[in-house]
Amino acid sequence: MALEINDLCVNCWACEPLCPNKAIFAASPHFEIDPDKCTECVGDYADAQCAEICPIEGAIVDELGDALNPPGSLTGIPLQLLAEAAGSAAGTAAKT
Ligand code: SF4
Ligand code: SF4
Repeated sequence: MALEINDLCVNCWACEPLCPNKAIFAASPHFEIDPDKCTECVGDYADAQCAEICPIEGAIVDELGDALNPPGSLTGIPLQLLAEAAGSAAGTAAKT
């Protein structure tokens, strides 16, 4: 039972000091979570402290790969708008 940090991490350091088990460490190309130390904060906090502070949607995932902060959860932007914006950006890129 451990969370993971993926390529979306921007190495902001916000999560590292909050981990009660010192499971988070700086690495290249992005921060990592030691699976042997991460308890998903069970017994210490009601919610995973790293995911609570992380400003990047999708950067922290559970063992199934599901984001603790999925797209739209922090920004409040509806998924449909995000999809439309992504489609618009792709169209703009194709024209250039
Ligand atoms: S879920 Fe909790 S124990 Fe696991 S890395 Fe995040 S802060 Fe640390
Ligand atoms: S808070 Fe999120 S973006 Fe910042 S270092 Fe931790 S995982 Fe990476």
